[in-house]
Amino acid sequence: MINRLKTLYELQLIDDQLDELEELRGDLPAAVNELKGRIQGLKDQTEQKQAEQQGSIEKRMSNEEEIEHLKSNQKKFKAQLYQVRNNKEYDALTKEIDHIDEEITKLEAQNKALEDLIQKLKIEIEDINPQLETLEEEMKGKEADLKEIIKANEKEEAKLSAKRSTVEAETKKPDYASYMKIRKARGGQAVATIRRSACTGCHNVVPPQRQLEIRQNRRLYNCEYCGRILVSAEIADEVETAEK
Ligand SMILES: [Zn+2]
Repeated sequence: MINRLKTLYELQLIDDQLDELEELRGDLPAAVNELKGRIQGLKDQTEQKQAEQQGSIEKRMSNEEEIEHLKSNQKKFKAQLYQVRNNKEYDALTKEIDHIDEEITKLEAQNKALEDLIQKLKIEIEDINPQLETLEEEMKGKEADLKEIIKANEKEEAKLSAKRSTVEAETKKPDYASYMKIRKARGGQAVATIRRSACTGCHNVVPPQRQLEIRQNRRLYNCEYCGRILVSAEIADEVETAEK
């Protein structure tokens, strides 16, 4: 039992050190991620606008072709006007010619609107580019800072991680599960000890009778206030000394 308690306390000491290393990185990893998201958002916006722009250009071109086609038809009808034999034929032809005029006017208006839209999209895309550049530069800076911090602690972190794997393998499965659960709930510290009669996790006083039981190392006790696993000061001291 005493070894189970020692192993748990050792695991806590290693995790404390790993947590400290992670804290050195501060909000850099989150900031880098946030910037990545914003950059992707702007890139998506640009792509969307470019697709809309391309679609508008194509539509305008097909409208132009249609206008040419209509004009050439109209020309034929106008030529036929000189060969009509009666008023009925004349009316039918002029009606057709007028109808084509309307169609052309409609398509030209549509192309004017498309041209405006293409220009508007062009300006919007140009506006996004400097924003994108600023964000990318900012991200590069933060990534470089992060890399530097990681590099500075690389060896220590690798050493701690290896040690952690060994200690984790030595920890009984249910103990480890319980440790991880409390660690998650308590934001890091799952194992506490008793100093000046109080739990070092939550600083509440541990009743004398309970302190006595804990010192006997017969089973796992959890602090009745914070739920952390409690080990005696003797075990804590022993493990800490061995660590040094
Ligand atoms: Zn406590």
